[in-house]
Formats: sequence, C-alpha cells, structure tokens
Amino acid sequence: MIETFKSMCPMNCLPTYCGMEVEVENGRVVKIRGDKENPDSRGFLCLRGASVHEVIHHPERLKVPLLRRRIGDPWQEVSWSQALDVVAEKMESAGKDAVGIWTGHGILVNSIGPQLALRFSQIHGCQAWSGAMKCWTLGAFGLALTGALEVNTKEDMAAHSRCIFLWGANFSSQPNSIRPILAAKRRGATLVTLDCRYTEACRFSDRVVLLRPGTDAALALAMMNVLIGDGLYDKAFVRNHAVGFPELARHVEDKTPEWAEGITGVPAPTVRELARLYATHTPSMIVLGGSSMFKQANGWFSSRAISCLPALVGNLGIPGGGFGPRHGGSTHDEILGTLLKGRPTPLPHHVPNQMSRILQALEEGPIRVLLLFGTDMVSSFAESNRVKAALDALDLVVVHDLFLSETAKHAHLVLPGTTWLEEVGYKKTNTHVYLMDQAIEPVGQARSLSWVLKELSRRLSVQDFFPWPSQEQAVDAILDVPATGHITVSDLRARRGREPLRISPVAHPDLRFPTPSGKVEFYSERSLKWGLPPLPEYREPLESPRSRPEVAQRYPLVLRPGRTFGHFNNFYRNGRAISRLARREPEPVVWLHPEDAAARGIQERERVVVFNDRSEFQARAKVTARIFPGTVWVRTGWPGLNALTACAPCLPDAAVEGVGFAAGQAAHEALVEVKTLMT
Ligand code: SF4
Repeated sequence: MIETFKSMCPMNCLPTYCGMEVEVENGRVVKIRGDKENPDSRGFLCLRGASVHEVIHHPERLKVPLLRRRIGDPWQEVSWSQALDVVAEKMESAGKDAVGIWTGHGILVNSIGPQLALRFSQIHGCQAWSGAMKCWTLGAFGLALTGALEVNTKEDMAAHSRCIFLWGANFSSQPNSIRPILAAKRRGATLVTLDCRYTEACRFSDRVVLLRPGTDAALALAMMNVLIGDGLYDKAFVRNHAVGFPELARHVEDKTPEWAEGITGVPAPTVRELARLYATHTPSMIVLGGSSMFKQANGWFSSRAISCLPALVGNLGIPGGGFGPRHGGSTHDEILGTLLKGRPTPLPHHVPNQMSRILQALEEGPIRVLLLFGTDMVSSFAESNRVKAALDALDLVVVHDLFLSETAKHAHLVLPGTTWLEEVGYKKTNTHVYLMDQAIEPVGQARSLSWVLKELSRRLSVQDFFPWPSQEQAVDAILDVPATGHITVSDLRARRGREPLRISPVAHPDLRFPTPSGKVEFYSERSLKWGLPPLPEYREPLESPRSRPEVAQRYPLVLRPGRTFGHFNNFYRNGRAISRLARREPEPVVWLHPEDAAARGIQERERVVVFNDRSEFQARAKVTARIFPGTVWVRTGWPGLNALTACAPCLPDAAVEGVGFAAGQAAHEALVEVKTLMT
C-alpha cells in the first residue's frame, strides 16, 4: 500500500522553503512531488528538491558506524554501543573544554538539531559553535548594528513594492522568490540587480549594475550622499526614529558618486540614477544577498551601509518597503520557543564563535576531541588544508553524516545519520510553520542526532539533556508559543501539516528597532565599543589588488564564490550524490572575463588551474563578459576550492556574539592566478 506524507524540502533556501508530498511503499520512498497545498511554494520544487530523494536509498550512504585507530587505517564496522563508548571515553579523558561541537546543515534539516546540540554542550560543559556563522550571520551583523533586521514577506513585496533592488541576491539561492518578484513586475514594479556578475536574475531585470566585488558599501555611501544632497531623505523619519543623522550627513559629504566610481567601477551618473530611483519609486524594497556577498572580511560593511538606505528614505515599517526575504531574515513576531538552558557557565579556555579562532583552537589547543554533526567542515572552512592538518593531529574526530565526506577522510569515527524523512521535525518560513513528519524508519543503522546525544548523555551522566518522552514532544516544546497559536505536532497532522504564523507582513511595524536606543542607529556606540567604526564606512576587501598590491603582482585576480541551481548543501555531497545534479554540473567551472582570458591565452572550455600560495584548484574555463573584469567566479562547495581562501577573522572576538547571534565568519577571500593546465 502507498502512504503519502507531507514534508518540506530539506535544502535550506531559507526563508523560501518548498513543500513536498512523499509517497512511501513497503518502507521505501517511491515518489516525491511538490505540495500544491503549500501556500509558500504552491507545488513548486526546483531540480534540487525534485531529485533529493535519491540520497535516501543511495548505495553509498553510510549504514553502520565505522571506526579506525589512526587516520589512513582501514575502517572497521563497530556496533553503536562500541562507537559511543569510544566517544564518551575520549571526551572524559580530554576534559570538558577540550571537546568541541561544530554543526552544519545536516542537523538543521528538521530544524530541531542546532538547539539540541547547544543544549547538550550547555549542560555537559563542552565548547559548541554555531554553523550559521559560515552562512548568513556576518551580513546580518551589519544590519543589526543599524537595527534593520526584520524582513517584509514576499507576499507583501508582490503586492506593494514599486521598486525592488536585488542586491547581491540570486534566484539560484532562493528560487521561490521568483514568483512574487515577477508578480511585482507585472504590477509595474522596476527590478534592479546589483552584483559582480550577471546572475540568473539579470534576464528578468530592468536594470543590471555590475560592480567590483566587495565594494557595495561605497555604492551605498554614495547613494546616501545623493539622497541627502538632493534633499530626497525623509526628514521626519530620521528626526523621530533614528540617531546619528547629523554625523551621517557630515560623514557622506565627500562620498560623492565620482568617489564611488573610482572604487566600484559604477559610473557616477548611474550612482545618481540609482539613488533617485530608490528614493522616488517608493515603496522600494531591497532583497539583500544572504551569504556569498559576505564571504569577505569586510563584507559586513556592505550590509551596514546598505541598511541605512531604507531608514534614510523613511521606507521602514511600511508595506512594500525595507528589506525583502533574506537568508536568515525573520518577520516581525516570527519567534519560536527554545530548548536551551539559559546562559552556559563560562569555560576556562573559551573558544569564541569565530572560524579563525576555532581553527587556531584545533591547531594549538585546547580542542582535542571534535564532534562534527551534519557538516563537511573541510569543505566549508576557509584555508581547508590547514583544517585537514589540524584534524589529523586531534585525539578523536567524529563525523555524523550521510556519506563519507571530505572531512570523514580525516576522522577516526563515522556515524550514520538520518535524513529528513527518518525523524519528526518542522520548518518555519516567514509566514507558516510546517510539519516534517517521519515517513520511513531509519535506513540501515542510521540514528538521529537526538538519539546520539541522548546515548552520550547517559554515558557521561549529563542530567536533564532530553526531558521529553520523544522527539515529537521536543518539537511541541518549540512550537508552544503565541506565533503558532501553541500548536502541536498532532494538531499539525490534523491540519494538513501547516499553520499560518501570527506575524506582521511588514517589518518593524511599531518602528521599534533592536538596538540599544530602540531607534535606527546611523551612529552606533556599540560598534565604537568593539573597536569598529561608529558610522557606516567602506573598507577595501582584505585581499584585493588595491589592499595587497605586492600579492597581486603574482596573483592579480579576485576569487568570488557563489551558488548555482545545481548546487546542494555539503550534507548531500554538494549535490554529487544526486545523479541529476551531478550530470548537470559534472566538474568545476571558473568564470573568466574575456580580457583576463586573452591576457593568459585561455580558451573557452579549456582546462585551467586556479592557484595561489595556499593551494591550487583545477577547473574548466568559461570565458564570459558576464563577470566584472579582474574577477573569477566558481560555484562554492567543490573539494579543494576553499584551500585557496583565507581564514582571517572578520570581527573582533567581543563583537561576534554582541548582536544576539554568532557572526564570526572567516574572510574566505583569495587573490589568485589562472593558467592553462598544460603550461
Ligand atoms: S532546493 Fe529547490 S525545492 Fe528545495 S527549498 Fe530550495 S527552491 Fe525549494
């Protein structure tokens, strides 16, 4: 008999997730289709979502725990009991603050995992770091300083925005935003795309502006210069709802469009047109990139400067204004419950939520035992060759995953994890909460994160880690809040798997902002306290021909990462475990501008090497004028790509957790050279 379950695509295109219906026959998933009843996605599944079920019964999926004494030894199958005894013994002998937990997308798929991992670390007393820092949080740090963290819904954008700036945002990262953006366009809205390359969004855009990568803050500052100089700002809004306008006005006096042209490559008349369009076609909305544009040490300066624009023109707290759907962005009152146990006791050798400090702690101590849940650390960390060497020297590296990942090559123990259909969970969009019900029993000996941590808690006498009778009740505890109407998993089953959230479709409707002053902060005392500039500024990228001219003599090209429609998170081997995606992108491709290709004698589709002093990476050349000259672009996630990038810090330690979330991403920047493979 075929049974049908409601679920959600496990890929985190947050906040634009897609609903799916799953058909199960004799314990096997036989079909997945888009859920037409899902109000967020209305039956849509992109190529990734429509193919993802391939991983569930994949022949290479991990099905039993594997152990080896030394890196390089052959794997031995062991029982779960033996495996967890080894983990508990090593954790006890290392000492609590010598144990670290790093989590990734794989435990986020059912939404409950990150909270469980943090709760375990709080009660046990070990170190734990937020996987979100490698994704959206550095960009959000800049927004938080200004206070413009909330987003309007995509439905509000479709109904009310007259002008939409897609600023570093790409449809391949949030395909579900295409429909509301096109609805706004049909209503007459103007669509502007700003990026360092022609993305999939450009063909829908009325205006495309290419700028030098990492210079977005200079463009935003010059737009502010025009808005203030031309009197196009909202005087009542900045007087009543913002602090620091006089300082900002003085600060941007010399940030002219001509000044910005010299930095960004955007002609000064275009800068003026953009500023006037943004201020006069109101309500205007900015859809800000979630991750790639912030993969640089000074990336947060961009979001800090851009977030001052809606406040300047009084576009916050109104339908169609402010910021639209953004990776990690929440609507007003979109708040669920917590499983955490209050503030953890400070550790004697605390390692901050900062990728550079985590790598240092792996290399120099205190970390001796590392538990990696649902993450391919080697793939996602910068300077990955340093990461590999550090892992190889630890006492114990444990990987809980679906496949033998790049990181598993440097582990002593691999544990088979569950997919999103093998345990109960939920997903939350900006407007709804959805049930992700258990549809099948775990494949092989796969076990969920909650089961693994419960078993470790028992061995380590960690009290009160999991006080709920089952994972379903733990999900109920998270859902027991006003935003959901205190719904339960059982209620969701009865309501076809979904419930509207009690949220405002408009961000900051009360014009209260999450800053110390409660207002928009053009001038931030917090920033000053952390040794950062109090006003929005432009800072040259850490690794660019201008900031590192001596390095650029040998490596003159700026490497930028990004996403494609065929890319899946590294929990699914970056899509390599899904045959349709693997066929679509069989090998790495590097985009090169024709001028840069000609200067190196590189032809279209030629095999090339991208290299610098850190490492080298092979790819096939795509010669295209769709990229800013001097820039090379590669889809993120290919093994070895991050060996080229820098693991330098982006923020002072004191700042990384100062705004309520962990923002300690590494620079991920690189200057590189490209040559043909034969030379
Ligand atoms: S990967 Fe595709 S199907 Fe899945 S949530 Fe993203 S857009 Fe939707």
